[in-house]
Amino acid sequence: MQNGTDNSITDFTNNLTPDLTIDFNQMIDNYLHREFRPKTEGTYYPSEIGSCIRKVWYTYKFPKQLDPKLKKIFEVGNMMHEFVVKVLQSEKNPHIELVSTELPFKREIEDFLISGRIDNVILVKADGKQLLIEVKSAKDIGWIREPKPENVIQLQLYMHVTGIHDGALLYINKSDLESKVFPIKYDPKAAADVENRFKTLNSHIKIGLPPDPEARGNLKTQWMCRYCEYREKCYIDTPKDGKWV
Ligand code: SF4
Repeated sequence: MQNGTDNSITDFTNNLTPDLTIDFNQMIDNYLHREFRPKTEGTYYPSEIGSCIRKVWYTYKFPKQLDPKLKKIFEVGNMMHEFVVKVLQSEKNPHIELVSTELPFKREIEDFLISGRIDNVILVKADGKQLLIEVKSAKDIGWIREPKPENVIQLQLYMHVTGIHDGALLYINKSDLESKVFPIKYDPKAAADVENRFKTLNSHIKIGLPPDPEARGNLKTQWMCRYCEYREKCYIDTPKDGKWV
């Protein structure tokens, strides 16, 4: 029958029970809630160093709870990571051996410590060679034509500390699981530059002055400011001018 009068798909919505409501958004927020603990100055995290260095500075000096929306986005990233692990682990892909999914990381530099578990990187053996794979979930890999600098920074640091000098960045679409892989070679100079970023962060934390708003100074990183919880404060501390958009 036509017009939804008999057995049409739309007829089934008549059976909804309006008095029974489940606020699943709230349930997800509850599930993802973690007790908030401010970070300790002098201990830094490898996963953060690819972000805008001023933003990282704010997270130490003006700690905030993570926005629930961002928590959800990060959780999707974790889910994608777990999916990639399953693919690499599968016996249907016998040419790849998954070696580890969580690498401990500790490095002392001058008077500070870089520490943490590297949990977005997977260690695999392919053709007898060890390879670090950093997984990044993406909205649309069609726009990704080269590895993102902030992801390369992180991977260079991991390659430097683990001594595994072959790596790859794997971008995977959240909507349809299409992916792109970019092989990355270890570059000692790039690794030294990353360590210098930590030194810059540490010295600014010690003197109590924010570093430059670096993400605002480069077309490739300005997108970071859209998702930054400190955006308003950043513009108060450094108003827009010819150098910082
Ligand atoms: S608004 Fe942009 S430049 Fe400022 S702290 Fe945030 S990410 Fe960095």
